[in-house]
Amino acid sequence: MSLFGGLFDLPWWGHVLVALGLTHLTILAVTIFLHRNQTHRAIELHPAVGHAFRLWLWLTTGMRTREWVAVHRKHHAYCEREGDPHSPKLLGLNRVLWGGVLLYVKESANPDTIARYGHLTPDDWLERNLYSRYVMFGLTLTGLADVMLFGIVPGALIFVAQIAWIPFWAAGVINGVGHYWGYRNWSTDNASTNMFPIGMLIGGEELHNNHHAYPTSARFSNRWYEIDAGWAWIRLLAALGLATVKRLPPEPRFGAPAVLADLHTLEALIAHRYDAMNAYDAALGRLPRDAQDARRTMQAMKSDLVALWGRSLSGRDQLVSRLQTWCRLADASGIIPLAEFSRRLRSYA
Ligand SMILES: [Zn+2]
Ligand SMILES: [Zn+2]
Repeated sequence: MSLFGGLFDLPWWGHVLVALGLTHLTILAVTIFLHRNQTHRAIELHPAVGHAFRLWLWLTTGMRTREWVAVHRKHHAYCEREGDPHSPKLLGLNRVLWGGVLLYVKESANPDTIARYGHLTPDDWLERNLYSRYVMFGLTLTGLADVMLFGIVPGALIFVAQIAWIPFWAAGVINGVGHYWGYRNWSTDNASTNMFPIGMLIGGEELHNNHHAYPTSARFSNRWYEIDAGWAWIRLLAALGLATVKRLPPEPRFGAPAVLADLHTLEALIAHRYDAMNAYDAALGRLPRDAQDARRTMQAMKSDLVALWGRSLSGRDQLVSRLQTWCRLADASGIIPLAEFSRRLRSYA
């Protein structure tokens, strides 16, 4: 071992394999834990697995779970409209592809976004006193470990690959290219695309159009030739008893790509508003007792819904667009009774 060497003396391709393995783990933490579990509740994870992912994200990305979840739910609610934190249709592809991380940082610093969309995310002692508080500490530990294990130059390069991976592939490529270029299986009401049928490099997030069509599905692949690496790992975790799959397409309640609310929905909702409010209260009653922040979110959303028929002066088009945003947010909220209510509401027409 030379002066600048690390504990492991690897050939150059060994370092490349290590970097690919470590960044794949980070991608899995994003797609399995942050996206499919925390944001959309499409799967449940064994607490130890969930925590391992949270620790890994702290060590390699410095992202806070609540912020990631909130920014992403807001993206689903406003997709391609004013309020979408990172739409290439509104901001241009280059701005999202190369500057996506800045858009993310800007939106995650918006306290309204976090309060409104961050419900049902970890708020335990470790989150408050370590993961959310000392963000740079985790990254520093990883940088030191890389240099000690692989030597100064290879270790530094591996570290740079680790910390640049998510800002580029997730904040840039998925949020930018995934709403711009590729093929579409579903004509969703946004510009989402499947970038590539083999979802390996970004853990299945390549299939972004499928995801926008079925936001609460644990599996992102919809065609026989599509591969979703994240789903393969979820299957493995489930076989080991470490994960439970909650929803898959096509399942009747969540199956078909969400029907869009229109003028008929709005009129039917207003005509049946007392029935709708009863159904909403029943949905609130189905929340687990300890889900305090989900309850607050549902109560705030109830006021928004009631405000729809209080605004007789607003134009109908404006009300329909508000109702559509409301439904999109409910669909992407990760609160199951709320998503079910949103489906039911759209069947009124
Ligand atoms: Zn999207
Ligand atoms: Zn999503």
